[in-house]
Amino acid sequence: MTVGRFAPTPSGRMHLGNVLCAMLSWLSVRARGGRYLLRIEDLDAMRCPRALADQIEDDLRWFGLDWDDGGSDGGAQWYQSTRAPVYDRYFAELTRRGLVYPCFCSRAELHAAQAPHRSDGTYVYAGTCRGLTPEQIAQKRKKRPPAARVCVPDRTVSFVDGCQGAYAENLARDCGDFIIRRSDGVYGYQLAVVVDDAEMGVTEVVRGSDLLESTPRQLYLYETLGLPAPAFYHIPLLTAPDGRRLSKRDGDLDLGALRARFGRPEPVVGMLAAAAGLRPTARPVALRELADDFTWDAVRRADIALPPEILRA
Ligand code: GLU
Repeated sequence: MTVGRFAPTPSGRMHLGNVLCAMLSWLSVRARGGRYLLRIEDLDAMRCPRALADQIEDDLRWFGLDWDDGGSDGGAQWYQSTRAPVYDRYFAELTRRGLVYPCFCSRAELHAAQAPHRSDGTYVYAGTCRGLTPEQIAQKRKKRPPAARVCVPDRTVSFVDGCQGAYAENLARDCGDFIIRRSDGVYGYQLAVVVDDAEMGVTEVVRGSDLLESTPRQLYLYETLGLPAPAFYHIPLLTAPDGRRLSKRDGDLDLGALRARFGRPEPVVGMLAAAAGLRPTARPVALRELADDFTWDAVRRADIALPPEILRA
């Protein structure tokens, strides 16, 4: 059975791009009679108060989405902020296999090392702390708590994305050893998302194409931990008419503003359906109607510039 999910990070109100992701992930599951889950990715609990997670649920319901388990209907396990003991187990397994090492590099040091930049703005880590001796580690620990990195092999990971097609990256050259636990003890997204999707039985992951570059790292963790990997669909990002990426700062396009402006969801659903390629025009439509003939073949691959009208309040 298809099991899909939406996994928002409640650090603000959802914007249209987040809603498009929720919409396509829901349609993909509902069109196939699968199970749909809502997981709250509030790992960084300080930045993700419960009130914002509750607001996301309210916005999703207004939009027409439902879920079979998760969110506040589920239980504590649907909030990543409660799952550190679960991540501890997988972290211990990676550690036992000698794949984890402490990293003491500060942000400034990482910057100065001038490792090549990835297009998502992160660094390819140069491996500075990989060869530290136990004595050096003990010394450095006195000054600051370390983050934890997982070692990656010099190997190319390739997969076929359901939306973007074939994608490949060499782990050592293009990613480098990556952080799985921050220096403040908070687990990183890459480990948490793999553990959760596997434990929740997720068979397909639908998310923004800004996360395409994370997927080889996640596939490496799935394989290393012996967990079954889901299928991936990385959907196009929405941009302003000038091509600029939308972000949570575009307050006029967050769900609060759109709800106030349109009053009902159908115009917003219709606009997103047209933008994504599911309907020829932006005629208002109810979300559940789109499930009848949903197919990934119709979904656009390239980023989508929103029409200027939508930006006018
Ligand atoms: N929590 C992430 C976000 O809100 C999504 C992660 C994922 O779907 O894998 O962008």
